[in-house]
Amino acid sequence: MPTGKEPKGNDTRTLMSFIIMAVIFTSVINIFMAASTSRHSQEISYTQFLEMLEDKKVDTVERQVDRLIVTEKQEDSEQVGLYSKPNTYIVGMVDDPELTDRIIEAGANQYSNVENNSVIYEFMVSWVLPSILIYAVVTLLMRSFAKRMGGGGGPMSFGKNTAKIYAQKETGVTFADVAGQEEAKESLNEIVDFLHQPDKYNAIGAKLPKGALLVGPPGTGKTLLAKAVAGEANVPFYSLSGSDFVEMFVGVGASRVRDLFKQAVENAPCIVFIDEIDAIGKSRDNQIGGNDEREQTLNQLLAEMDGFDSSKGVVILGATNRPEVLDKALLRPGRFDRRVIVEKPDLKGRKSILEVHVKSVKLSDDVDLDAIALATSGCAGADLANIVNEAALRAVRLGRDKVNQGDFMEAIEVIIAGKEKKDRILTEKEKEIVSYHEVGHALAAALQKNTMPVQKITIVPRTMGSLGYTMQMPEEEKYLMSKEEMLEQITTLLAGRSAEEVIFNICTTGASNDIERATAMARAMVAQYGMSDKFDMMGLESIQNRYLDGRNVRNCAEVTSAEVDSEVLKIITECHKKAVDILKNNEDALHRIAKFLIEKETITGKEFMDILNEGKEEEVEPEVEA
Ligand code: ADP
Ligand code: MG
Ligand code: ZN
Repeated sequence: MPTGKEPKGNDTRTLMSFIIMAVIFTSVINIFMAASTSRHSQEISYTQFLEMLEDKKVDTVERQVDRLIVTEKQEDSEQVGLYSKPNTYIVGMVDDPELTDRIIEAGANQYSNVENNSVIYEFMVSWVLPSILIYAVVTLLMRSFAKRMGGGGGPMSFGKNTAKIYAQKETGVTFADVAGQEEAKESLNEIVDFLHQPDKYNAIGAKLPKGALLVGPPGTGKTLLAKAVAGEANVPFYSLSGSDFVEMFVGVGASRVRDLFKQAVENAPCIVFIDEIDAIGKSRDNQIGGNDEREQTLNQLLAEMDGFDSSKGVVILGATNRPEVLDKALLRPGRFDRRVIVEKPDLKGRKSILEVHVKSVKLSDDVDLDAIALATSGCAGADLANIVNEAALRAVRLGRDKVNQGDFMEAIEVIIAGKEKKDRILTEKEKEIVSYHEVGHALAAALQKNTMPVQKITIVPRTMGSLGYTMQMPEEEKYLMSKEEMLEQITTLLAGRSAEEVIFNICTTGASNDIERATAMARAMVAQYGMSDKFDMMGLESIQNRYLDGRNVRNCAEVTSAEVDSEVLKIITECHKKAVDILKNNEDALHRIAKFLIEKETITGKEFMDILNEGKEEEVEPEVEA
């Protein structure tokens, strides 16, 4: 639904300047044409013409009202450029009744302009036609230029306003398509209800919230929820992305906001959805690289949100994963006065999202959605949708007509660790090192109390850089982690490198990711969770951009920061020592499992536990089973 708005005030002036331009253009073209044609049409006398006729040099004679146009025969023409062009001559008309006979006698063709329209015709060809052509070209150019400018108002706008605003009548999405976001759905339900029966609310004097802001990490279903609200409420849905407003030219975004709200109010009740609203809603106080266009757009948005009457039934939904950068003015009551948090789904949520997505997939009987949900801790809805699709693709690839549990598990691994890289060949030595490294992780996990059971160990390289990995799977979803659990997890992470040291007495580059994660965890223990003796419960770091990957910001003096580092080092050293101890005490098992892994490349958690338990019946049973 494009916005049809012709510029009015400048019409006459534009037309005048166009006519002047066209006349100048055409004159120039005509002068050139005249110059180029006159080269070959020279005037000759009637006597000369008769001589030419007698010599049979004439090809055609064209009779016009007051003159004859005579074309010379081709073979006598002079050579012009690459092609030969017959010479033409102009002869003044003389009253000669025998002319026709003479021409026939000379074997020339003759034409005559029956109608007396040569003047009009010439005028049309040389003036009107070029004018029309130029007009067409100029308008086309102007229009495309105006489009590139975003079609905003102002003296430069020639074409139509081409803001990409559209209303989707049917989004085709309902709340049933959004799983595992019960709280979010609940708070949006009120908006839907209002759009259905505004009288109920108006009667009591309750006003519809003007806007709701959907906040959460990427892929959790914010866009989907907004569409579902429109689908449930059965009203038009205006969807724009924040970046649609941001253009190179100052003022364009603001005019788009105006247009959008004008349309919305005309079509009320309706829902206006601004996705990724941080693109325009960024706080204005940050002076570095201030952006006039964005600020104007934001100001316009603020003004429009104040300006309309929500009892008409226009609801504005916004979505962002960076709520902290949004301008405070945008968040105050009366604008986006409702904040709907769309978190990553928990175990139950993941299962119901999977249920939504497997509806369109043929499943074999062994598929266990609970297990899949358990293995995908930390995945957002979009990841789960992707996993289901990857699994289905794998089933097709392997020529099956149903998707089985193996497909799902492989799909999860692809999402977590990348695709198997079968063509990367490790040397025997490398394979051995990787194998001991991974078994180191697995043993540390199995021999400590509070760790997750091992699900699978593999030394098949993957595209995302790992040469092998150990997959652990929780038995149940946890929301709290104790200090002991964190320390054990750090120990597990460090056990890979520790195994390399214990067995080969070497260090390799293979442990960089383990080290990074272990250090980050140790630092979080000290600086965020108050788990060190030295700093007690002092908060030393906070997280910025929580919904994106989250960067830590230091809140303490530099001296303190140095002390934090030494605390972190202490934790790491302790855990490293513990990992080495565990492996040294279980070197037998380490050798046995590593040998098996080198041979098989992949072993399951069950095989792993079987081999581990073979030689140590007398020792304490680990409390894990796979
Ligand atoms: P974002 O929060 O980044 O806007 P989207 O709404 O675009 O995420 O979600 C992307 C896709 O992920 C959706 O099209 C849908 O297939 C899937 N998805 C995400 N969350 C859910 C959910 N809660 N229920 C069902 N599908 C979901
Ligand atoms: Mg989105
Ligand atoms: Zn490792």
